Amino acid sequence: MATSTTRSVILVKNGRVYDQAGNVHLPPIADLLIVDGMIAAARAGIAAAVERGESPAELGTRTIDQTIDATDKLLMPGFVNAHYHSHDVLLKGCFETIPLELWLLSALPPRYPKRSTAEIRARTLVGALECLRSGMTTVQDLATIYPFDEEHLEAILQAYEDIGIRCVFALQFADTAGAKSIPFWEEVVPSEQRGALAGAVEPFQGVDLPKLLRDIVTSQRRRHPRITLALGPTSPERCTPELLGELAELSDTEKLPVYTHIYESRAMTLIARQTHAAKDGGSLIEYLKRVGLLTPRMNLAHSVWMLPAEIDGIAEAGAHVVLNPVGNLKTRSGVAPIRTYLRKGLRPALGCDNCSCSDAQNMFQSMKLFAGLAAVSQPEPGPPTAADAIWSATIGGARTAGLEGQIGALRPGMAADLSIIDLTDPSFVPLNSVARQIVFTEAGRGVETVIVDGRVVIAERKVMTINERALREEVADLMKVLRRDVQAVAKRTDAMLPYLMEAQRKTWQVDIGLNRYVGNGND
Ligand SMILES: [Zn+2]
Repeated sequence: MATSTTRSVILVKNGRVYDQAGNVHLPPIADLLIVDGMIAAARAGIAAAVERGESPAELGTRTIDQTIDATDKLLMPGFVNAHYHSHDVLLKGCFETIPLELWLLSALPPRYPKRSTAEIRARTLVGALECLRSGMTTVQDLATIYPFDEEHLEAILQAYEDIGIRCVFALQFADTAGAKSIPFWEEVVPSEQRGALAGAVEPFQGVDLPKLLRDIVTSQRRRHPRITLALGPTSPERCTPELLGELAELSDTEKLPVYTHIYESRAMTLIARQTHAAKDGGSLIEYLKRVGLLTPRMNLAHSVWMLPAEIDGIAEAGAHVVLNPVGNLKTRSGVAPIRTYLRKGLRPALGCDNCSCSDAQNMFQSMKLFAGLAAVSQPEPGPPTAADAIWSATIGGARTAGLEGQIGALRPGMAADLSIIDLTDPSFVPLNSVARQIVFTEAGRGVETVIVDGRVVIAERKVMTINERALREEVADLMKVLRRDVQAVAKRTDAMLPYLMEAQRKTWQVDIGLNRYVGNGND
C-alpha cells in the first residue's frame, strides 16, 4: 500500500505477534520492524541484532527512530470495523432496546435540524477515538449527511485524516422516501402526522445523485492517504433500479466496494416481499443480481433475515456479508443465520454499527457475540472458533474493502496497522489461549498502544493526534443544542407511537417464510 506519509522507522520488540496462520493460542515472541508505514520484518532476533550493533537487511541504510518494548504484550493486527455510521455518535445511551423502525425515527439525521460543521467534526472524532481505543485501525463509515452539504463531507474526511485512523468512506444515500419502505406506516399513521415520518435516509432534494457520487470519487480519491472510497446505497428497497444500475457501473469502472443494509429487521424483509414480488420473487438478492450489483465488491450488512437459497446466491456471486450482532440485539432485529453462512462457505466480516444502536464501538463485543450467537441454535459443537472470529474482525473486514493482503495481518509488505495489548491484565492471567482470551475474556481494557500506517496514534493509552480534553469540552458545549433537538424529536415520535406500534404488530402477523428470533415470542 503506497499510501504512507509516515517517514519513520519503529522497532516493536519482544512481543507475541498474532498470526492467523500460526499458533493462535500461544503466538511466538518476535520483533516487528516498521519502515515508512509498512511492516518490513516480523521475526525473532531483530532487536538482538540491533543491540549487537548489526543492521538487519530490511533496514538498509536507515536507522531506528523509535523502539517500543512489547515484553509481556501482544501485537494484534488492527481490527476492521466493517459496518459503522458516524452520524449518531453523540446519541449513545439515548435509547433502550427499541425496534429498529422506531429507532430510525428517533436517531437518524433526516428527523433532525441541519447540524453545524463543528458538531460533524466533533462527532466523527469521538467515534474514531472510540474505535481506536478498542484496537480498530480501520473503520468503514457509511455516513448520512442530511441535507447534503459539501462542507460537512470535507469535515468528516478531514477529521479522519487528523486523528489518523484508516477509513473506508461511503456517503449513505437513497432515492425513495423512507416512509414508503416501512410496512404499514403510511396506512396506519394519520395523514396530518405523516409529514413527520422519515426513514434512515431520505432522498437529497435538488441533487443529481449519480453526478454527486461521481464528483466525490473524482475529487476525493487518493486525496487523503488513509481514506479509500466506497459506495453506500442505504438498502436496495430504498433505491430505484435506475440508481442501482448507475452504481453497478460506477463500482465496476472505478473498482469501488459497495456497502448496503439488507434484511436487517423483519419489517425490512416484509417490505421486500411486498414490493419486489413481481420481478424478483420478493427477494432483494435477486433484485441486486438483476441490477448488476451482486458482485465480489458487494458487502451486505446485517443479512439477518436471509433465506437459504439467497445465501447460495451470495456465495455464488462471491459477495460478502457483514454481521452486526450487538446492534441486531439492541434493535430487536433477531439473530443472523451464522452457522448457515459458514456451512455455505461464506466467512462474514464484523461491524459495530451505530453508536446509538449497539451502543459501543468495541470489536471484542462483536467477536464474542458472533461466536456465542452461532451457538444458540445448535447444541452440536462447531464453528466459528475464537480464531475464526478474529479472522472475521481482521482479514474478513479487509476483504470487504478490497484491502486484503494490505491490512488485517502482521506480515512483511503489509501496512503497519496494529494494537499492542497488555498481557499482564487479569484477562490474560494465566495465558491459556490468546485467541480464546481475546474473544471470550478481553473487553478492550488491555489495549495500550495503537499504530496506524506506521504512526503511533495511541501511545500507552494517550491519543497523540488530537487534544482529547479539548474535544470533550467541545462536545459538552455542542450537546446543549443537540439535547434540545433530541427532546423535540422524541416528542414528535411519542405522539405517533400508538400508530407505529400498530404497524409493528401488523408486520409481525404476516408470514414471511422464516423466523430469526430465538424462542417462541413469549420467553
Ligand atoms: Zn447500519
